[in-house]
Amino acid sequence: MPTPTLAPLRAEVLRANLHLSRSGLALYTFGNASAIDRASGLVVIKPSGVPYEEMREEDLVVTDLDGRIVEGELRPSSDLPTHLVLYNAFQSIGGVVHTHSHYATVWAQAGREIPCMGTTHADYFRGPVPITDILEEGEIASEYEANTGHAIVRRFRDLDPDEMPATLVVGHASFCWGPTVSDAVHTAALLETVAHMAYDTASINPSAAPISNHLLDKHFLRKHGASAYYGQR
Ligand SMILES: [Zn+2]
Repeated sequence: MPTPTLAPLRAEVLRANLHLSRSGLALYTFGNASAIDRASGLVVIKPSGVPYEEMREEDLVVTDLDGRIVEGELRPSSDLPTHLVLYNAFQSIGGVVHTHSHYATVWAQAGREIPCMGTTHADYFRGPVPITDILEEGEIASEYEANTGHAIVRRFRDLDPDEMPATLVVGHASFCWGPTVSDAVHTAALLETVAHMAYDTASINPSAAPISNHLLDKHFLRKHGASAYYGQR
């Protein structure tokens, strides 16, 4: 019997995964979205290898924070261990999204963080979107997906995941997160937009400079944090 209290979360995780496909952020079976119920410590995640157009709520897999399957007939997304490391390390987040969206991925492949070239970026990300260090051979050979999560957590030693809700994994693609999985999907779409803008900006003017920290903070802090004043109260 599926846990009744998880029903709304299952519905949200299915919507999030379908949105990744329909918005073009995830092709074929690439990409995955998950959410955590912090009260029970249970994670709802996309099943592995099921085409988005066939995915149903009952196909989603529920695991605990150690990755033990609690509900579901199918195998969870192979990236589950990355999601679990992020949920364990970043206590404030409620959803994680991974895609190979084109422009965010090309920055990851180029081994470059995404510089903050304008206020569109600054509205959502407080600084350049970071990139992890290269994984060592041993980290790839064994527990690769968990080690991808650990590489992200290491990169965030001096970063606040609430102020920087995304990262690039070098040579791979992006992971995004947020208070909910719907927020994480929103962030994945914004990340792709700012990655595209930064790429085009660098194409037009390779020596264009990132915006000042002053302008960056002005834009970020008017939408986020204690003194935010953007939008309706
Ligand atoms: Zn991937």
